[in-house]
Amino acid sequence: MTAAPPAPQIGAHGLVFTGEFDEEGLVTAASGAQQAGFGLLELPLADPYGADGALVGRMVRDHGLSLTASLGLTSENDVTSEDPQTVRRGTDLLLRAVDVIAEAGGEHLCGVLHSAMQKYMIPASEQGRANSARALAEVAEHAAAAGIPVSLEIVNRYESNLINTARDALTHLELIDHPNVHLHLDTYHMNIEESDMASPVLEAGDALRYVHIGESHRGYLGTGSVDFGTFYRALQRIGYSGPIVFESFSSAVVSPALSNTLGVWRNLWEDSADLAAHAQRTIRDSLRAVETLSLH
Ligand code: MN
Repeated sequence: MTAAPPAPQIGAHGLVFTGEFDEEGLVTAASGAQQAGFGLLELPLADPYGADGALVGRMVRDHGLSLTASLGLTSENDVTSEDPQTVRRGTDLLLRAVDVIAEAGGEHLCGVLHSAMQKYMIPASEQGRANSARALAEVAEHAAAAGIPVSLEIVNRYESNLINTARDALTHLELIDHPNVHLHLDTYHMNIEESDMASPVLEAGDALRYVHIGESHRGYLGTGSVDFGTFYRALQRIGYSGPIVFESFSSAVVSPALSNTLGVWRNLWEDSADLAAHAQRTIRDSLRAVETLSLH
């Protein structure tokens, strides 16, 4: 028998608990994640220049949590831009995000790092792809020195024009050509763009290092149309052992930076604590169930 892979870290996105990440917001997010039974907090790092890495680190350690951070670039700092200064701003912002994560003792940078997170009205250009790849190689090198892996979140066509499927993303990884850049799959986006919930996981294989669990409407797990059973079985097949982070948004918790970009117009839940505890149990139960497939 081969040894089982290490147990994945089960986490929650900060926006489940609060829309503000000042000191008070960080306490709310960290204590919320801890009380719901999670072992990891994913911090949305919309403004890395305004973030206090030491404070973030103290908050997560005080609550016994591991830390990761995510962000989406904007049109102001889009690394697929054909304007060199805009690409530079994006690259610098990502380098700063790495420094904040390193100072906080965090373990991963993920999200829409490869383009702006927005609806584009034109396809990505060759120049844009090349600019994105060059920027990410520079960020990956800096992150590697800090021991922080970088994973690109594959999002649907309304949130990026660069990569919308795992296969697109694998092609972009070849262009980046750096061993510290990996893939981040999100079930919400997969449900929109992929042909099924297993193939992208199997094709990504070892390149898959980060996972978001979200319903088709980003509300309570089990109340939408995502085929989670197939997805968890695929994770089990590739021996996935990276973070698995619950992501859910409601107009009950509003982030000035994120809610409008993501189109969070509806109130799908009101009680963060109940939502989070439910998600934590659902994810752990699903992973426990697929573990027993080794007995079949
Ligand atoms: Mn996501």
